[in-house]
Amino acid sequence: MLENLLFPDITETPETIIEKYPKRKDWLVVTRIAPSPTWFLHIWAIYSAMLDKIIAHKNNWIFYLRIEDTDQKREVEWAAHKYVDIMKQFWLVFDEGPVWTDYIDVWNYWPYTQSRRENIYKVFIKDLVKKWLAYPCFLSEQEINETRQIQEASKIPTWIYKEYSPWRFATEEEVKTALDEWKDFVIRLKSKWEISRKIDLNDIIKWKITTWENFLDIVICKSNWIPTYHFAHLIDDFLMWTTHVIRWDEWFASLPLHMELFAMMWWKAPLYAHYWPLVKIDWNGKRKLSKRKDPEADIEYYFKAWYLIDSIIDFLSNIINSGFEDWRKQNPEKSYLDYDFKFEKINTAWALVDIDKLNFVNANIIKNMDDETIYKKLKEYLSKYDIELLNTIQNFDDKYNIKIIRELKTKIKKFDEFRENTYFLYNESEIPSNELMINEKMKITDIETVKKALNLSLEILKSRKNDFESIDEIKNIFVEKILNADMKNWQVLWPVRCALSWEQFSPWALELLYILWIDKSIQRIEKVLKNI
Ligand code: GLU
Repeated sequence: MLENLLFPDITETPETIIEKYPKRKDWLVVTRIAPSPTWFLHIWAIYSAMLDKIIAHKNNWIFYLRIEDTDQKREVEWAAHKYVDIMKQFWLVFDEGPVWTDYIDVWNYWPYTQSRRENIYKVFIKDLVKKWLAYPCFLSEQEINETRQIQEASKIPTWIYKEYSPWRFATEEEVKTALDEWKDFVIRLKSKWEISRKIDLNDIIKWKITTWENFLDIVICKSNWIPTYHFAHLIDDFLMWTTHVIRWDEWFASLPLHMELFAMMWWKAPLYAHYWPLVKIDWNGKRKLSKRKDPEADIEYYFKAWYLIDSIIDFLSNIINSGFEDWRKQNPEKSYLDYDFKFEKINTAWALVDIDKLNFVNANIIKNMDDETIYKKLKEYLSKYDIELLNTIQNFDDKYNIKIIRELKTKIKKFDEFRENTYFLYNESEIPSNELMINEKMKITDIETVKKALNLSLEILKSRKNDFESIDEIKNIFVEKILNADMKNWQVLWPVRCALSWEQFSPWALELLYILWIDKSIQRIEKVLKNI
């Protein structure tokens, strides 16, 4: 028997395996995210997991993680752990999935890592070979190339199928001889479907699409005995009783093949939702976000730029359904899961990763957050991405830091702007250039006016015993004294601003005075007066 020749060690049958994976309750919705740990985590993995969570949230549900590590050549060791960690930060917590510390899986449908399920796949492949629905194929690279050339010359579809697959028709004897010669082989599906027939595919997002049937004898098991994604995911989705497969558009083209495999197994296929690829606009027009070319494809990009998790979630929610934005305005406190997402309304034309929009969402969230929360989050972020700045701010007291946050939170779009906007508040002051201080528009025509303005400010500050309570208080005092000195507000406040921050762009003088408080402000102004 051919199957025993190929799989002498496999003694289980599909029936004995299926028995170990009992049917889940009928009313359960079961979704999964099944990343391949080959690189960084794409932003669309988060998008995809959010869709899983949304669809499952409305129902009674199980959301599980499966690690699809059948492509071992491209595997990156740390990737799977990292994915889990990142998903957690997005509150995308799994009901089932691999447990890493001791490599034990939770729940009944384990293992949740494909490389640990090889023997399960082999049982099903053996069964297909036994039923003559799959066959070993010993074609060499060269033979495959020659076949392709013949097909190209005849202008017919290229690949291994029907009469172009000699091993489809091989006898057991011929296979045995090839095996005895230790030839490399793969196992191919023996497609029964037709090149000229069409199939209706149903998809929750795309609705109904009519397309060509699969007719190719695709590889289901590679020469290293590891099954391909097409086969492995199908077995897993069946045994784990997945009800909804939500995955990106790239897999839609393989759906006819997956449908044939399900039909061949006599299994009911889950429901499918293929979401549109995320796109960006560049000089060349609209194109798919590319993991090779676009740094913003990597979720770490958003972390390093210090976008808040809430902003990324809102931003992606808005890509899912454009009505989300208006709802968010009315419901700033609610979870995105409370929004009534409609799969049929998934934005098809503009699944656009628009960083300006994300900046806007992030700025809005920062603006509305209380100062203490921002401070806490800022320290968390700094501890991961900018230890130096964390050490610096920790040399200052909390009150000072919070005053800075209060001032900046209406001005910055994301936290990585914090460093450039605050270095003059955390470092020794410098002497501003004369070009900066002398400003015709502000009626500061010479350095004497600058000196006069700074001396007046010093007088005001030195006459104070206590620090200022508010910016308004500073304003009232300065406006009164400036008027008495027969000067213009800007004639005084501009040089003060330059002395306190020596930069072209920075907060205004009154705000700087409020943040720095009296002693530091006096020191900085005196330093400038001594040096000009
Ligand atoms: N491992 C596949 C990928 O990372 C998952 C596709 C699926 O969800 O079925 O693209």
